[in-house]
Amino acid sequence: MKKPKIIRCPYCGGTAILRDASFVYGTHSHGGQVYVCSHYPSCNSYVGVHPGTRTPKGTLANRELRQKRIQAHRIFDEIWKQGILSKAEAYRWVADKFCLTEKQAHIGQFSNYMCDQLIQASADVLKNNHIPCRLRAAS
Ligand SMILES: [Zn+2]
Repeated sequence: MKKPKIIRCPYCGGTAILRDASFVYGTHSHGGQVYVCSHYPSCNSYVGVHPGTRTPKGTLANRELRQKRIQAHRIFDEIWKQGILSKAEAYRWVADKFCLTEKQAHIGQFSNYMCDQLIQASADVLKNNHIPCRLRAAS
C-alpha cells in the first residue's frame, strides 16, 4: 500500500490534517472532508478533498486565496458554460496559457497571481466571445 503523503501548509509549514468539512464550514457544510492546517484557526488555511477520496483538490489556501480561486473558477467556467470552448478545450487553453501540464492546470493549484491572470484572460475571452486564432489553430 502507498504511504499517505504528508501535506504541509504553505503559509506556516504546519501539517495538514484530514477532518470533516463541518470543522471549518460548521452548519454550512455540505459534507465531505477537508485538509486543515494543524494551526487552524490561528492559521486559517485549508483545502477541500475530492469526494470519496483522500486526494486534496489543490494546495491549502488562506481566506484571500480561497476567495480568489472561487472568483477565478466562476469566470473561467463561463467560457465552457457559454460554449465558447468545450470544457476539455477550456482546460487545454489554461494549460497552454500558463505552460502547465493538463494535470497542473487546475484552479485549486493556482496562486493568487495566477488566479488574477486567469480572471483577466477569461474576461477578455468572454468579452470577445472567442479565443485568439493562434490558439485555436494550434489545438
Ligand atoms: Zn498553516
